[in-house]
Order: sequence, then structure tokens, then C-alpha cells
Amino acid sequence: MSKLDSHLEAALARIGRAGQRRILRTTALLPRGRVERGGAALLDFSSNDYLGLARHPLLTARAGEWAAAYGAGSGASRLVTGTSEAHLALEARIAAFKHCEAALIFASGWQANAAVIPALLAAAPGTAVFTDRLVHASMHAGLAMAGSRQHRFRHNDLDHLEALLAEKGAEAPARLILTESVFSMDGDLADVARLADIAERHDAALFIDEAHATGVLGPGGRGLTALVPGRVDVVMGTFSKALGGFGAYVAGSQALIDYLVNAASGFVFTTAPPPAVLGAIDAALDLVPQMDAERAHLATLGDRLRTGLTRLGLDHGESSTQIVPAMIGPEDEAMALSARLEEAGFLASAIRPPTVPPGTSRLRIALRATHSEADIDALLAAIEAHR
Ligand SMILES: *Cc1c(COP(=O)(O)O)cnc(C)c1O
Repeated sequence: MSKLDSHLEAALARIGRAGQRRILRTTALLPRGRVERGGAALLDFSSNDYLGLARHPLLTARAGEWAAAYGAGSGASRLVTGTSEAHLALEARIAAFKHCEAALIFASGWQANAAVIPALLAAAPGTAVFTDRLVHASMHAGLAMAGSRQHRFRHNDLDHLEALLAEKGAEAPARLILTESVFSMDGDLADVARLADIAERHDAALFIDEAHATGVLGPGGRGLTALVPGRVDVVMGTFSKALGGFGAYVAGSQALIDYLVNAASGFVFTTAPPPAVLGAIDAALDLVPQMDAERAHLATLGDRLRTGLTRLGLDHGESSTQIVPAMIGPEDEAMALSARLEEAGFLASAIRPPTVPPGTSRLRIALRATHSEADIDALLAAIEAHR
């Protein structure tokens, strides 16, 4: 019993009364787009392992080999003794993969956004920040840490962004646009080419989070920023989703990376990613550029699912990727449908406020290259039967 427990229990009770208390449930990834939960094998539409690499033998083998060769831990932070040849070689590989001058590995995507954004804003205090309303919580964490005000534009509404840029922050020392290339809860795309044009026209820097695009979209799975090489100032992405492992990267100019090595707290004051994690990333980078067939299959599955949802009268928003929301609306209905689907053998998590705006609760359906068309049809039949 801790002295804090009474406060914590009261806070939990408030969360519970709002119907938003969450709990952890054990789940294990299985082959072929399945997971095990509660002793049952379920068809999994909730993991972000889009290319099925998390269980790929090349990744698991190299993670094990590198751990055996170099140890379980990295010993210290990168600036002390934690930088191995493998870190530098991987960072060079990532920079080449993203067509950028340089890259830096972070412990996680959350940590990268939370560390890089305040570091950038500290370089030019008073920077005016323009954010898409739906950016990930980790970017909000970074902005909150920086104590920065932001001008929010309506989701993917680049006319609104331009209007804000015309109006705000002209006197600021710098201007920074923060957005994502694929939005995590909607599966829709930002118009990266137009964003680059707008940023240039308004003399603003552009920061794009490619968490859900890396490995899946763009030439060779390089993400959508690869379509506009050299025109995005800060490119961030993760190894934890399509790349099947863990960790994240930031890529951009050499000056950006040199500065972050000095100024990003979540880089400087944390232990370097360990050999097993690096081994898995290295193996994923061997495979991903050659996975065009898997990427094409994912795109086909997405189209099949969207067509099916439309037939069932379910809105899928602006999704055009491997993330497909089935919009339900009321929170309790989305939760109840998700629970009935789980009983029927399908894991399709309900996403509700505060993760998404009120009234837009949904099933967030995440597709994997290891799914078959029959899997999609089975999910659609289950949604039809259990709505
Ligand atoms: C998942 C995600 C992150 C965080 O990445 P992790 O490596 O899981 O910490 C950051 N940004 C977006 C858009 C994400 O979806």
C-alpha cells in the first residue's frame, strides 16, 4: 500500500465512470496473421506487423546472432560507450534508404517525437508550430514538453494550413509544420508533395512522421517522403511496425543529426539500443526493399475490405492504405461489436475517445501481408453477422 494509492484509485474510478478504463491482455503473435488470446487462435486485425516480419526467421535469427556476438545490452548511452560500429553502419543504411544525408536511431518512436520536437524548438525559441489536428500523442508530448503553442489545422486540410501560415507566426524566428504521411487511426494519406510546396512557399520547415508508411508505401517501401527526396526537413519513422522489430529513426541533414546528438534529451540520456534490436533492424532492411509483392498484396486486401464495408453500409472514411477504419460512432456500440467479433474468432480492436474524437469510435482494422483474401471475406461476413 503506497501513500499514493488513494489518489490513484480515485483517478482510476474517474476513468472507469467515463467508461474508459483499460486493461492489459496477454496476446501472442502466431504465423499467418493470427494471434493467440485467451487460449484461442484469432484472426488478427489489430497488430501493426504489416509485412509479417515480426516472426520472420531472418529477423529472429539475426537478433539472436548479434546478441550472442555482442551481448544483451549496449552498456551505456550513445555519447559514452554505447555507440558500436553496428549503430553507425545502420544509421548510414537508413540515411541511404530514406535518401537523406544522415540518420539517427532512437529507442522508440514515442521517444523520438518526444525528444526531437523540444530539441528543435530549443534551437529557435519562439518557433511557430503548425500541426494537423490528428497527429500522434507522442508529438503532443514533445510539444507539451517544449511548452509550445501550436496552430492546429483541420485534418489533412492543406488550404487551412496555408491560411494559417499566411496569418500566423510571420514574426517568429522559424516556422515548423508537423504531420504524418499515413494517419494511424484513419489510414489516410497526407499530400506530401503539396506539403513540400507549401513549406517552401511559406519558408517553413517540414517534419513528417512515417510510422505507418515506412516499409509499406513509397518506392521500395521507403515511405512517402521518398517521393519528394530532399524536400522534407525532418523524417521520422519506426522499426516497430512494418519493419517487425523495435526502435525508430530520424533522418534529415547532417546538421540536424549532429544537433540532435547534442540536444535531444531522449537520445543523450538513454542507453543505446542493444545488439538484438539492431540485428532485427538490419535483417528487415535486407528484406523490405524487395517486398513489392507483399506491398501489392496488402493494397489489394485494403481495396477488397473497403469495397466489402461499403456494401455493408459502413463508412471507412478516407482510408486508402493497410489501415481501414470501420466507423461505428457511439463508443459502446464499437466496443460491443469488437467483443462479439472476438467471440467469433476475430481480433479487431475498437478505438474510442480519447484516442479518436468523440462520436467517431470505430473498429481499426490493420491488414497484414500474411492475410489472405479469404481472411478478409471471413472478417466481412463476421461483421455482417454480428452488427
Ligand atoms: C506508433 C506510432 C509512434 C510511436 O512509435 P513506437 O516505436 O511504437 O514508440 C509514433 N508516431 C506514430 C504516428 C505512431 O503511429
